Amino acid sequence: MVSADIIIIGGGLQGLSTALHLARKGKSVTLLEKDTAGRHASGVNAGGVRRLNRSFPEIPLSLASQELWHRIESLVDQDCGFRPEGQIRIAENDLDMEKLEERNRVMTSLGYTHEELVDKKTLRHLVPAASSHCLGALHCRGDGFAEPYLTTLAFKGKAESLGVHIYENSPVTAIERIQGFWRVRTGLRSFKAPVLVNCAGAWGGRIASWIGDCAPLTPTPLTMMVTAPVQSCLKPVVGLASRKLSFKQMPNGTFVIGGGHISKLNMESEKTVIDFTQLKISAQAVRDVFPLLKNVPIVRAWAGIEGFLPDQIPVIGPSRNAPQAFHAFGFCGHGFQLSPIIGQILSELIIHGRSSLPIEAFRIERFANHK
Ligand SMILES: Cc1cc2nc3c(=O)[nH]c(=O)nc-3n(C[C@H](O)[C@H](O)[C@H](O)COP(=O)(O)OP(=O)(O)OC[C@H]3O[C@@H](n4cnc5c(N)ncnc54)[C@H](O)[C@@H]3O)c2cc1C
Repeated sequence: MVSADIIIIGGGLQGLSTALHLARKGKSVTLLEKDTAGRHASGVNAGGVRRLNRSFPEIPLSLASQELWHRIESLVDQDCGFRPEGQIRIAENDLDMEKLEERNRVMTSLGYTHEELVDKKTLRHLVPAASSHCLGALHCRGDGFAEPYLTTLAFKGKAESLGVHIYENSPVTAIERIQGFWRVRTGLRSFKAPVLVNCAGAWGGRIASWIGDCAPLTPTPLTMMVTAPVQSCLKPVVGLASRKLSFKQMPNGTFVIGGGHISKLNMESEKTVIDFTQLKISAQAVRDVFPLLKNVPIVRAWAGIEGFLPDQIPVIGPSRNAPQAFHAFGFCGHGFQLSPIIGQILSELIIHGRSSLPIEAFRIERFANHK
């Protein structure tokens, strides 16, 4: 039986970040990952580091996480390929522009200044390749993108250097609470700790149910594609006000295109199959907004499995029904940017019993009546 202060289930970024923050505070941590660290959403996502257009409960967390991104090297000894070139959300028509203006009014009334409304002229300056039908945008300086797999490896490497024991290819198959300790089994091995953390991503609902909690989590395969390289012509990450798109140019000239289009998923085998009708919709949005790129070929597409909750925000916080158990799962397509702060929040909850940031909205209790 392997003993530690804390057992974490899940070797994605939330689990690795939690392990890292706990180890920095002197705790012994065992992390169990059924595949390899970063194999799922954390290693294959779009890498968007975005405060822009966050849902309101997430804004304080996103702002705090962005501060950590801007000194990510001091946290994990690597820059994670972070490029703070900004993120921009473009209005394609008058209705879009009204939507962005309204968002800006509400954000300003709440005292937030990180999203700036920009007119057509400024948009042209920021995104010269954008089509002339685009009318303006919301712009978030200091946002940008990083490289997901590099980031995951950096968090993993740093956590291990601080003494975290990471067991890969170790699917958790049983969890019990016996005499004040969590006992967790992975095939032939057993682990024991007073504290348990569920960072199992799209599988987080299943782990929660094993300890008596419930959350209506839907595993969802999100589609990404990448083009052949072309000469550099785009700095910020581009999204649209009313169509699904996340569009960025990487340092090697390729464009990475995502935005929430859904593929097909067999959750038993964990196999995803690209839905080409969705790819076409995504590619069409790019062609409309960047007509110059209409002949750039798509060279590769993939899908990553992410957990979604009905209100589009994650579960973060203590278990409702089990002692000394905590959750952080269901990041609804935007947990990459949040990951540095999630580890800090969980380490505070575990060590001090409270978070320095507001996490009330993320409590699992909100699903108490879910069957
Ligand atoms: C295609 C795509 C694009 C995205 N783009 C962005 C973006 O641009 N910006 C952004 O902020 N976010 C983005 N996201 C979301 C982001 O990737 C996720 O929110 C984040 O990575 C979630 O991290 P996680 O650690 O919760 O989950 P995961 O990375 O899925 O990690 C959970 C881990 O738990 C393990 N696990 C599950 N069950 C068990 C078990 N029984 N035993 C042991 N281990 C188990 C899994 O194998 C998995 O590795 C995107 C997601 C996808 C899929």
